Parts: sequence; C-alpha cells; structure tokens
Amino acid sequence: MKKKKAVFLDRDGTIVVHIPYLSSPGQLKLLPHAVEGIRLFKDHGYLIIVVTNQSGVARGYFNEESLVEIHDKLQKILIKEKAEVDDIYYCPHHADGVVGQYKIHCDCRKPRPKMLFDAAKQHNIDLSQSIMIGDSEGDILAGKEAGCRSILVIDGNQERGDGLHFGADYVVKDLLEAAQLFVGNKK
Ligand SMILES: [Mg+2]
Ligand SMILES: [Zn+2]
Repeated sequence: MKKKKAVFLDRDGTIVVHIPYLSSPGQLKLLPHAVEGIRLFKDHGYLIIVVTNQSGVARGYFNEESLVEIHDKLQKILIKEKAEVDDIYYCPHHADGVVGQYKIHCDCRKPRPKMLFDAAKQHNIDLSQSIMIGDSEGDILAGKEAGCRSILVIDGNQERGDGLHFGADYVVKDLLEAAQLFVGNKK
C-alpha cells in the first residue's frame, strides 16, 4: 500500500491560541487562518495529525479525562470548519510532575520524535514526505529527528527578537502561509 504524506501539527500556539496549561474546552480559540491552512493541506492529500505535549496532566493541573474532552471539543470545532484532523497524539508526562504515573522521563515528549513515529506506523505515513509545524524548538527538533521538513510558526504578536529559528526549514506567520508554501494558491 502506498504510504501517505502527513502534516504534524503542534496544538498550542499553532492551531489554537497558547494559553498556559489550557484546562477546559471553553478556553479553545482558533488562531487566525488555522482552519484555512488545515483545509488547504487536506485538499492536497495530506493527513493531519496533531502532536501535543500536555505536561499539565503530570503536573496535576488537569487530568487525562479533561484533556480528552478538550480534544473532542477541538475536533468538533474543526469539523464544523471542514478542517477535521485525522488523529491527535499527546504526551501527558513530565519528569517534574506530581502525579505518580505521569512523573517520568518518557520517550514521547517533544523534542523526542516518538509521537511522530507512532503515528507513522499507525497511519502508514512516509515521514520523508511529511511536515512538522509548530511554534517552539521542541516541535522543530522532533520534526527533524523524524526526518520531516519543519516549519516554525511565529505569530506577529510574539516576533522573536533573537532571530532564533531552531534550524527550521521555513518560518511562517500562520498555517495558511505554511500550506501555501507546499501547495501554492492554486486549487
Ligand atoms: Mg506550541
Ligand atoms: Zn510522554
């Protein structure tokens, strides 16, 4: 079976507004042009896979059940916008956590690439044809480690003064700009 290409998307600061330890579905707010970008990638045959670090679980700020509710709500919002994602992977761990079973040095927390590898296996993805998009160093490193192209999202409000782009292949202001880099405006 022919392998598929995918776009791996960070969640906070990439699809939705970054709210530290976002803990309830009501706090979800889409970033400008996020759904247009997701749609454009989908229209061109990319699977859309969310990969998100959620150490708030390990830190005791919210539990895995709430996290699943948040992701259900996010998916509902995206479906309404015709930008449904194909899967959501999350890492609930952190070595400095306080909740027993999650307080570990895990293999899945970005910058480690395990969530991307797991998704590749599960969804038959060709990582060399795939793209990791996120707003932080861990996203870029995980993408590179997995053999994907990488795109750093920097929204206008938080322009980095340091000029550090963590070795990303591209830097964009939102997901629509990212999608246009790969598929152009033609449709
Ligand atoms: Mg982020
Ligand atoms: Zn983990």
